[in-house]
Amino acid sequence: MGKLVIISGPSGSGKTTVCKLLTKDPHIKKSISVTTRLPRDSEKNGEAYYFVSKHEFEEMIQRGELAEHAEYCEHSYGTPMKALKEALVKEGFYLLEIEVQGALQIMEKLPETISIFLLPPDKKTLGQRLIQRNANREEDMENRLKIADKEMEYKDRYNYCVVNDDLAATVSTIRKILNLA
Ligand code: ADP
Ligand code: 5GP
Repeated sequence: MGKLVIISGPSGSGKTTVCKLLTKDPHIKKSISVTTRLPRDSEKNGEAYYFVSKHEFEEMIQRGELAEHAEYCEHSYGTPMKALKEALVKEGFYLLEIEVQGALQIMEKLPETISIFLLPPDKKTLGQRLIQRNANREEDMENRLKIADKEMEYKDRYNYCVVNDDLAATVSTIRKILNLA
């Protein structure tokens, strides 16, 4: 049986970077979410996300195609159900890089899920990392920093909290949590 692993954390905490490194291991796959937000320059449809219209997203909800979904920064995000079900009947780990509200939905439905909350070393570093990524409009960035404070309040609902200071150390800690190291 496959094991579900949730990775949450404020925007800029390093979720995408950490997941990319984790999926170098063939035992670890990552779910590709659906979103109504626009792609960043580096993002390709079907790789980073499936980018869809609001209408298409609503239709997916109506058809029961999403295992969870949530609103974040005025956009919708959701986890496709079919790929998740397929992953759960195979060996290995299946990463869900999702925000807190969606994570709580999955934890309730599938309590055996391993949940990890990624923390930035401090708030200043979080802001710097968001600037460095340089893909958000300024007001979006401010919004994301505001949401970060709310998200941090949920960190104790997760099985593990990992501070993403040194990247290699973070990846190694998560591999240990998954008994892969
Ligand atoms: P998230 O997916 O959580 O929004 P990203 O993975 O996009 O965050 O990371 C935000 C920025 O921080 C990126 O520019 C990334 O290269 C950088 N970053 C991520 N982890 C680290 C780290 N441990 N040390 C320094 N920079 C990092
Ligand atoms: P971003 O716009 O930075 O890619 O993502 C914004 C937030 O949405 C992040 O916290 C990210 O983890 C989360 N997210 C991405 N995909 C999903 C998903 O399928 N469901 C939920 N609930 N959140 C998601």
